[in-house]
Amino acid sequence: MKHLFYLIFILFNLNMTYSQDLQTDKLETNSGEIEINFVKHASLFFEFDGKIIHIDPVLRMGNYENYPKADLILITHHHGDHMDLNAIDLIKKENTKIILTKKCHELSENLSEVIIMQNGDVLNINQLEIEAIPAYNMIHKRESGEPYHPKGEGNGYIIKFGNKKVLVAGDTENIPEIKELKNIDIAFLPMNLPYTMTPEMVADAAKAFRPKVLYPYHYSNTDTSILIELLKNEKDIEVRIKKM
Ligand code: ZN
Ligand code: ZN
Repeated sequence: MKHLFYLIFILFNLNMTYSQDLQTDKLETNSGEIEINFVKHASLFFEFDGKIIHIDPVLRMGNYENYPKADLILITHHHGDHMDLNAIDLIKKENTKIILTKKCHELSENLSEVIIMQNGDVLNINQLEIEAIPAYNMIHKRESGEPYHPKGEGNGYIIKFGNKKVLVAGDTENIPEIKELKNIDIAFLPMNLPYTMTPEMVADAAKAFRPKVLYPYHYSNTDTSILIELLKNEKDIEVRIKKM
């Protein structure tokens, strides 16, 4: 009996890795597996080919002390729920590359190893092809009339892992630049008001570019069942809901 207790104790402790509090998914590519780790809101990270790629790390969204350090960090835009310099500080190591926007760079001049990407830029880094695409509001605006996300300021990123393309859209609406995308295997699309999309807008975008797997993210209290209902007849688009 005593031994059993020890065994349980040891097994319990072995399991105390960073992944314990995270939901994960895996996807096969022609160059090995992508592991997707869902943190919260707009924060997530990928593990691929022995490398860790963090997207919009924000300390209050997860237990970043326990997560693996980044080889690459991608920041979509400068808002506080996407860019957190303390999180970047915590997870970067020597030679970590940080991809961000011009505006992010203006607000973080002390960061080293940064690469500024603007809408339309493509680069190859760590065997990954990364494309920055637009992310902006057409409809939802502040009282001043300024969109929450003006065109040209923020990025969405398409990351090519082996033969699979993953879109992390950033804070955007169902803009034409997303709707005309082709061959996206996995898409993260934001779904909260007033800053990003309604479920109807997410469904409209998905029906246009038809990702194989769609993860709504950045969805706060939005009812995800509305999106599932809207896309229930689109058999080639699998909607997966993760707690984010
Ligand atoms: Zn934003
Ligand atoms: Zn946001």
